[in-house]
Amino acid sequence: MIQQHTAEKKIVLCPICGRGKIIMEEKDTDDPPLQLVLPNSRRKARWYIKCNVCKNQIGITAKK
Ligand SMILES: [Zn+2]
Repeated sequence: MIQQHTAEKKIVLCPICGRGKIIMEEKDTDDPPLQLVLPNSRRKARWYIKCNVCKNQIGITAKK
């Protein structure tokens, strides 16, 4: 079994299907953490990424 280096990085899974890997998150940075925005949310996201499992567009915005 191949061990992935995910000790300090967190894989953010798709909030809709829970299976698609949306983005890798490094915890020890000075940047604000990301917040995912669901497609039916009224909140506007700055960035969008497509889940390659369920094909939904997930919005990404910076948490304030
Ligand atoms: Zn998905």
